[in-house]
Amino acid sequence: KSGFISIVGRPNVGKSTFLNRVIGQKIAIMSDKPQTTRNKVQGVLTTNESQMIFIDTPGIHKPKHKLGDFMIKAATNTFREVDLILFMVNVDEGLGRGDEYIMELLKDVKTPVFLVLNKIDTLHPDELLPMIEDYRTRLPFKEVVPISALEGNNVETLLEQVHSYI
Ligand code: GDP
Ligand code: MG
Repeated sequence: KSGFISIVGRPNVGKSTFLNRVIGQKIAIMSDKPQTTRNKVQGVLTTNESQMIFIDTPGIHKPKHKLGDFMIKAATNTFREVDLILFMVNVDEGLGRGDEYIMELLKDVKTPVFLVLNKIDTLHPDELLPMIEDYRTRLPFKEVVPISALEGNNVETLLEQVHSYI
């Protein structure tokens, strides 16, 4: 089993921290290499049962600038070409304009989307459930998965859920 997974989210939500945790140090080196294909491979996680290929989405991490048509097309093409999209947000800051903008792009895409709520280590446990209930109504997310990429909480569970969608 093998699948392509796109991790999207505005800057600083923890995408690199997550990739580093699941794949290790090699990514930093990989992501500096210019890639010949349109979609930059950020890392590959190979287990006994599967291969998860994480790829970057061009242009999507620059919410301060309105994306031009070309950027929107590139991002949308990436979303269509992958098997699964992990949309990562930062629970410490809540949903902001950068997140809203990405959700606008995601709403017309048929590829399954997981909402990954990162940085749960910054929350009081009582705050998490209402947040999940609120966020899960925003788009038809296949899964809503709270994690701490930094501390590793629930990351294994997320990978198992990813595995079942690829
Ligand atoms: P990216 O821009 O989405 O790739 O975000 P980074 O992975 O570079 O992370 C941005 C900042 O958030 C860094 O200072 C990370 O250490 C921090 N960070 C990432 N994940 C977590 C988390 O689960 N909990 C906390 N408290 N901080 C995190
Ligand atoms: Mg990063």
